[in-house]
Amino acid sequence: MKAIRRFSVRTVLPERIAALGDLASNLRWSWHPTTRDLFSEIDPARWAKVRKDPVRLLSALSADELEALAADAAFVAKVDAAAADLGRYVTEPRWYQDWAASVEGGAPRAIAYFSPEFGITEVLPQYSGGLGILAGDHLKSASDLGVPIVGVGLFYKTGYFKQSLNLDGWQQETYPVLDPDGLPLSLLREADGTPCVITIDLPGGRTLAAHVWKAQVGRVPLLLLDSDVQDNDDAARGITDRLYGGGGEQRLQQEMLLGIGGVRALRLWSRLTGAPAPDVYHTNEGHAGFLGVERIRELAADQGMDFDAALEAVRASTVFTTHTPVPAGIDRFGADQIELYFGGDNAFDGVPVERLLSLGAEDYPGGQAGIFNMAVMGLRLAQRANGVSQLHGVVSRHMFDGLWPGFDDTEVPITSITNGVHAPTWVDRRVYDLAARHLGTTEVSRDNAWDGIAHVPGDDVWATKREMREQLVVEARRRTRSSWLKRGASPAELGWVEDVLDPDVLTIGFARRVPTYKRLTLMLRDPARLKKLLLDPERPIQLVIAGKSHPADETGKKLIQQMVRFADDHEVRHRIVFLPNYDIAMAQYLYPGCDVWLNNPLRPFEACGTSGMKAALNGGLNLSILDGWWDEWYDGENGWAIPTADGVEDPERRDDLEAAALYDLIEGSVAPRFYDRDADGVPQRWLSMMKHTLSTLGPKVLASRMVRDYTEKLYGPAARAGWALNGPAFDGARDLSAYKARVRSSWGGVRVDHVESSGVSDSPQVGDKLHVRAFVSLDGLDPSEVEVQVVHGRTSESDELRDIETAPLAYAESYEAGRHRFEGDLVLSRTGAFGYTVRVLPKHPHMASPTELGLVANA
Ligand SMILES: *Cc1c(COP(=O)(O)O)cnc(C)c1O
Repeated sequence: MKAIRRFSVRTVLPERIAALGDLASNLRWSWHPTTRDLFSEIDPARWAKVRKDPVRLLSALSADELEALAADAAFVAKVDAAAADLGRYVTEPRWYQDWAASVEGGAPRAIAYFSPEFGITEVLPQYSGGLGILAGDHLKSASDLGVPIVGVGLFYKTGYFKQSLNLDGWQQETYPVLDPDGLPLSLLREADGTPCVITIDLPGGRTLAAHVWKAQVGRVPLLLLDSDVQDNDDAARGITDRLYGGGGEQRLQQEMLLGIGGVRALRLWSRLTGAPAPDVYHTNEGHAGFLGVERIRELAADQGMDFDAALEAVRASTVFTTHTPVPAGIDRFGADQIELYFGGDNAFDGVPVERLLSLGAEDYPGGQAGIFNMAVMGLRLAQRANGVSQLHGVVSRHMFDGLWPGFDDTEVPITSITNGVHAPTWVDRRVYDLAARHLGTTEVSRDNAWDGIAHVPGDDVWATKREMREQLVVEARRRTRSSWLKRGASPAELGWVEDVLDPDVLTIGFARRVPTYKRLTLMLRDPARLKKLLLDPERPIQLVIAGKSHPADETGKKLIQQMVRFADDHEVRHRIVFLPNYDIAMAQYLYPGCDVWLNNPLRPFEACGTSGMKAALNGGLNLSILDGWWDEWYDGENGWAIPTADGVEDPERRDDLEAAALYDLIEGSVAPRFYDRDADGVPQRWLSMMKHTLSTLGPKVLASRMVRDYTEKLYGPAARAGWALNGPAFDGARDLSAYKARVRSSWGGVRVDHVESSGVSDSPQVGDKLHVRAFVSLDGLDPSEVEVQVVHGRTSESDELRDIETAPLAYAESYEAGRHRFEGDLVLSRTGAFGYTVRVLPKHPHMASPTELGLVANA
């Protein structure tokens, strides 16, 4: 019999152990082993059965069992200690409080972080891959550092799908329905106990209502909007059914709920708790971009601001992070859809739909008419933007350079902050224990904690790695067995599974989502060659592979099938496994267990990649294409770089070349080094690479480094920029928008009329001083409202300037008809071909960079 409706009845805990409820509902347990131990101790067998989920464990206990626990003085003391520890963790001053006290100009009181997905723990499957895991790690590290972030997302009733395989190796998807009452979530309620409701108007007089769930991530609240509300019609109820589930229309509605509803949820949160309104709004990828539109509407309604002034106020305090190095990966809607949702009766007061459309318009060369592009809107609504690795910064500046015509790619105002990972989540406990034994610290997240790694005895490091490899082997066998049972095998034919993988064989991991550019099957280019590597009698390798394909991506599913079929082969199945349903729980076995982490994307499509960082923190060595973070931090000693066939046009040939390079590396370098043992069976050279990785990559790949970077380089400046504009009656914003309007209307008449120089002879040498005089027309703009610059650099044969630097010229004198002279000196500091030019740029103290308007008058 099937239930027609289900709900979870929450446990009532006896007073003396009531704190267990707080410990279960604060997700800090997911990165705090001591708290997990406390739950495990209650009943280790049941703990395993409920998949290490504290909320489920508590509801599985009977009233008698709970009473027995409450009567156990030793247990009660442990609960008290854990509760006190959590209490300290969430209140004591941490890094941010020191920083905020000393930073000039003040620190944000609150920062809102919007993301379509959050990967915090397997218990809350609200993520599909890297973007969500990154968001989860961002919140956790913000919590550890005391950064006052509040997360904003959606609650998907079925989350992302679970993957299994059929007999043919074809991906099967299931969507288990989540019951929020059985999850570590609490519903925001009004004082009278009724659930709080957020509403958004939809076309046709419909209203979308949403509830708001709160997850507590250490110190950080995470607000999740849920459209499964009784007042909604069926279509509206289904909006948050699935993560990345529906097509264009549902996607647009989800993004409206995330951006617009998200801002409304923040206001609700402030009203309920007295929390300060955020000073900074950070959007993780473009999906939440409508948050800026809602904020413009608020400013129009509350402050009587026009669209342009409100836009300035919003931009100043918004940060946009792009993650997508391919135009195809960006969310785009038809302009007609936007008109339907934001025009006519649905128009937002203060946001004329044409103005909204122009924010997302691809009105640059190569852009498409009639399209509304969420990333383009993201960039136009944020004064500060970044990519997620240095290389991705370069790629993004090029990809979006159409928005800043007249400027070099290098000047496009998109910076980069390289992603990082949350060590307490991803580093195996054994590594922490190793550190505690030999370094007297478990704080491996501290920057210098691994400086002492050189002194940790090699045999202990090696023994620890073997334990983690063995733990992975056991888990992989368990998963292989259960996968084969689902695929229709009978237990009697699965004896061979006990011989799958070997805890002493070189273990290479490959796990990630399966979009084409990640090239899951590159290793299968030459199956015979791979087989030979797997079955080498002296120096075999073994491969552990996992990854989900988006349900609508048939190509991805074919790749998985190809992989599975290869791994099913009796000859190799003890050396290669494809484990279905890659998720956080599996990942926590994979990274520690692998000796080598393989990544072979098509360069430069991997914006950053983070799984290799997690492997590195567990002493894994990376074997990767020089893409994303690896391009930045590969140093020759921390792993291997697979040579790329950049410039080879034929993709088949490129794959062949890169696959051959991969086999060569494994055969010629990786395997020989792994199996090169001393008399005690320890691979000393391998070990020194592991130690080198831990001590040098360790501090860089941390999410704590990343969150500090965001705080210092983007959140602080964005908060201060926002305050500069929101003063009495938002005068600053009105002033900036009036300035921009004036500059835009005058710019057609701004030009460099004439440039003179003197001071340098026919044979200039380093140290010579070049005196530059520029005569410019400003069409009524005041000389103080522009910057006149010399732009200088190396020149190519076609006189293109490279490695450019700029130096401002000083205002000297005005003439009639809006003409002015600027001048200054330039010291020649570089030898070789040198060139310069002069240009005029807008200048205003509240612009983040002179490129901001995309306007420039070059000589
Ligand atoms: C880290 C992680 C990812 C992202 O890995 P990439 O290397 O960025 O592709 C995806 N899924 C899970 C479960 C992860 O832990």
